[in-house]
Amino acid sequence: MTTDSRKRSTYSRRWFLQTSAGLAVGVGLYRPDWLPGYTGLADVRQEVPWTELASALHGQLVRPGDMDYLRYASPWNLRYAGVLPGGIARCADTGDVQASLGWARKYDVPLVIRSGGHSYAGFSTTQGLMIDVSPMNRVSFDPSTGMATLGGGARNADVYANLRPPSVAVTHGRCKAVGVAGLVLGGGIGFNMRAHGLTCDQLVQTEMVLADGSRVICSSSENDELLWASRGGGGGNFGINTSFTIQTFPVGRLTVYLITWKEKIDEVLAALQNVVLASPNEMGCKVSVNAVRAGAENTLNVQLLGQLIGTPSDLRDLLAPVYAISHPGNANEMVMEANYWDGQEFLSEDGTPEYSHERSRYVTGRIPDEGLANIVRHLRDWPGTKVGATWKFFLLGGAISRLRPADTAYVHRDASMISSIEVDWDATEEGTDVVIGNEMWLNEFHASMRPYTSEHSYQNFIDASQTDWQRAYYGTNLERLIEIKTKYDRTNVFHFPQSIPVAPTAPGQSGPQRSFH
Ligand SMILES: Cc1cc2nc3c(=O)[nH]c(=O)nc-3n(C[C@H](O)[C@H](O)[C@H](O)COP(=O)(O)OP(=O)(O)OC[C@H]3O[C@@H](n4cnc5c(N)ncnc54)[C@H](O)[C@@H]3O)c2cc1C
Repeated sequence: MTTDSRKRSTYSRRWFLQTSAGLAVGVGLYRPDWLPGYTGLADVRQEVPWTELASALHGQLVRPGDMDYLRYASPWNLRYAGVLPGGIARCADTGDVQASLGWARKYDVPLVIRSGGHSYAGFSTTQGLMIDVSPMNRVSFDPSTGMATLGGGARNADVYANLRPPSVAVTHGRCKAVGVAGLVLGGGIGFNMRAHGLTCDQLVQTEMVLADGSRVICSSSENDELLWASRGGGGGNFGINTSFTIQTFPVGRLTVYLITWKEKIDEVLAALQNVVLASPNEMGCKVSVNAVRAGAENTLNVQLLGQLIGTPSDLRDLLAPVYAISHPGNANEMVMEANYWDGQEFLSEDGTPEYSHERSRYVTGRIPDEGLANIVRHLRDWPGTKVGATWKFFLLGGAISRLRPADTAYVHRDASMISSIEVDWDATEEGTDVVIGNEMWLNEFHASMRPYTSEHSYQNFIDASQTDWQRAYYGTNLERLIEIKTKYDRTNVFHFPQSIPVAPTAPGQSGPQRSFH
């Protein structure tokens, strides 16, 4: 994640080994502060009739001690790998989702929905029932409409595999293991977004299982407010989305690139920001400043990663003002012209689980020179871990800004970029002073960026330490989201520490309840 030259090609085996190692260290050490009364293994495992659920499923119910339990239970962010479910319903179809939800409600078992498991804050972990939709990962494509229909558990990897043959795409992430559900429900940024909009902008229809167990289709002609909420209102809030129908677009050739500057960091960063902010919507990119520990000092580099619908020479023309300050040298300049999906293989990462904390804010306009100096200063002063720290921005604008904030639940339409700070560490550092020192550094750095950013944060970079999260994620759309939540999930069946709240009860009405925790 931190430095993109650390690209990984295969993940399954390493994922399992690292996850097992992480669990061995993580269990018992980490106590999630958002989980009240967290006591390690939940009593709920013994007291409820799991066999009743198992016999109701077409898919498998996986319990502690079963083969692959730890593999299915573990989230991407290993900080939360110690929160272990009493059972995992590996749902094969919508009927399994309904059966799991009904069973959890009947026995008052806490539940959580899991798709790709990549919630930054571990919000798809529970000690109760994990409703795991990841087996529902079928993707179909209708050439007559250009629509792709994806199961609620499809991942970016399924999108890559199934949209390559017809030479079409949606806006997708570059981490293959991320779930489309989490991605689209919280917005969905990717290198296509300036030309074609966010993933949620391309969402045309979704099937949902609601809190009362009913199955509904949500489109512009039926249950349109649930479609609206599913376009950026955040995963895990309104129901369980069991399929997504997304409008694709045709793709052709493009240029992909990973360019690393190791000198004149401040000047390169300033010039790069100017260049990409002025670039055409065919340019999709991330700019990062990466820090790694080298002895007692931090070594910094600046990276540009992304795609341009154009040629390598178009890219070099665009970057000429940056190259005039510092040429990265051939070894640090990976530029390739390719067909779209080969290019995505170059850009992709596999999403290997990590110990990580990321904090974001949106920016409107450009970050002034003193803001950029603040970023470089913080990274030079980074206290260090064995893995790395990064500040990055994702370039927005273009098609994203053509919609108005109220058109979809995703509200951040006028932003020019997402500024985000990430720090990663390893299993040996988890639970030690290294993490405490890094958290202090991260919080101070995040606060110091506020003069240069808006008050908004990206809901898909969900952050348990974000105190103003309701407005930060949903801005002026918060009230409508609360209304929809209250209408469809009055008893707050779907909740987690940063879920959209149910409106307070009006006098004389029966009130919303929290049935779990
Ligand atoms: C390595 C990495 C790379 C990333 N890259 C990108 C990127 O390129 N672009 C981007 O926009 N974001 C990116 N993200 C952020 C990502 O979009 C969010 O973390 C997203 O929520 C992950 O979705 P998931 O299904 O994998 O995670 P999960 O943890 O399974 O789910 C996330 C949330 O959605 C809920 N949920 C899951 N499935 C469903 C469902 N079927 N119905 C209703 N609710 C559901 C969960 O309960 C949880 O609250 C990245 C994250 C990581 C860790």
